[in-house]
Amino acid sequence: MITPRYKRVMLKLSGEVLMGDQQFGIDPAFVAKLAGEVKAAKETGLEICLVIGGGNIFRGMAGAAAGMDRAQADYMGMLATVMNALAMQNALEQLGVHTRVQSAIQMDQVCEPVIRRRAERHLEKDRVVIFAAGVGSPYFTTDSGAALRAAEMKCDALFKGTSVDGVYDSDPKTNPGAVRYDSISYDKVLSDNLKVMDAAAIALCRDNAIPIVVFNIREEGNLARVLAGQGVATTVAG
Ligand code: UDP
Repeated sequence: MITPRYKRVMLKLSGEVLMGDQQFGIDPAFVAKLAGEVKAAKETGLEICLVIGGGNIFRGMAGAAAGMDRAQADYMGMLATVMNALAMQNALEQLGVHTRVQSAIQMDQVCEPVIRRRAERHLEKDRVVIFAAGVGSPYFTTDSGAALRAAEMKCDALFKGTSVDGVYDSDPKTNPGAVRYDSISYDKVLSDNLKVMDAAAIALCRDNAIPIVVFNIREEGNLARVLAGQGVATTVAG
């Protein structure tokens, strides 16, 4: 039995992990697997807040690079995160995990608006709260959304689940000699411009003393291990 070290955590998943082995979109079978990981983590007694990106469907920067207005493209990106949130809600509820989606862009027919006190109540009632649409404004990312909600909800840590097993001194995909950090300071991440999360999100975590744990969510059972301080990960802190 793995014992958790935290009481309440924010889990940020990049949209890409929902693709599974596809090149685009949502692979329901892989989302079901991820939901199983979240369920297992929750069963250790943790309160879980979730933020899911939208990069598997649409990124504002890509739209802007192709000639779109950046703000317009960013709103499309935020809508993509709502679709991912609904996909994860569906997968979690199929496993019997109660959830609520709260969106920073109001959409009464599909989910709740973000209301902090209501989110608190959901967590008390043993529900997973999925925060969608980032911070609700263009020129931000869901990393910033995760950092903001982690601060608001007083999460003990922000877990960032991606396809790599931590923070490296250079890109491990292009440099086979890249070295992984076990721990690193917020300031070093910012000064070396390391690709952990965007700078606004790192600064928000630093200012609110929220440790960031970067780990590989694709590896089975890793989330529960990392939550217990046992898996391979990089911790960004003081
Ligand atoms: N986005 C935004 N404001 C936010 C959060 C997200 O404008 O507060 C848009 C932005 O265009 C971004 C897209 O939504 O590219 C998808 O989010 P993100 O890139 O963070 O997803 P991830 O990389 O985690 O899959």
